[in-house]
Amino acid sequence: MSIEHKIIEYRQKLEKYDTRLIAVSKTKPNEDLLQAYNAGQRDFGENKVQELARKAEELPQDINWHMIGHLQRNKVKYIAPFVALIHSIDSSRLAAEVNKQALRNERKIACLLQVYIADEETKFGFSEEELLDFLKSDQFSELTHIEIKGLMGMATNTDDQAQIRSEFASLKRIADRISAEVDSDRVSMEELSMGMTSDYEIACEEGSTMVRIGSAIFGSRNYPPTQTTAP
Ligand SMILES: *Cc1c(COP(=O)(O)O)cnc(C)c1O
Repeated sequence: MSIEHKIIEYRQKLEKYDTRLIAVSKTKPNEDLLQAYNAGQRDFGENKVQELARKAEELPQDINWHMIGHLQRNKVKYIAPFVALIHSIDSSRLAAEVNKQALRNERKIACLLQVYIADEETKFGFSEEELLDFLKSDQFSELTHIEIKGLMGMATNTDDQAQIRSEFASLKRIADRISAEVDSDRVSMEELSMGMTSDYEIACEEGSTMVRIGSAIFGSRNYPPTQTTAP
């Protein structure tokens, strides 16, 4: 099936949950993104700063670019002028750097806080207590140019559906707790970015508002990223 058809198919699947599709286009050439674009897709997710910045320059200006991967502080400046949403704020130091670059660009940057919900060693993110401490801290109250729109989490890479479900449910529960305990006009819990190709249905059932789907739409990943010319 073509990329256009896949986009349409997934948007239909997501309709009943009222969940937005973030098309994860990492490693894919511009032509593939344009096929999705021509099917009406405007939200694209990338996990590498350089690739995201290059594609943003080469592709149509009305695309919303989502940074979904681990973000190094020294690279924030390359996406700060235009990024639509950073899903992967995983430390207070990164949040502070995003705030600094937002100020420099005279804009506010929408962010999600990444929470560690998986039973894996390698994942990035805040723990529940770190998150609460951070949002209630004096440091956070000074970060006037970031707007926290919700949380992002990745479930354990496992076949155990019950485990995946309980990890997503825990993210939702943490979001509800923040809503109840944190009173700031820069914090809302309207977005829950959870679910990818293998687990998006469970995520939707557990309250996801954005799923990040890559391989189901674009096919398995190309490594290294294919270089293409501007369209
Ligand atoms: C690559 C990636 C995805 C998409 O993964 P698929 O399994 O291809 O759908 C989602 N979220 C993050 C953070 C990713 O890096």
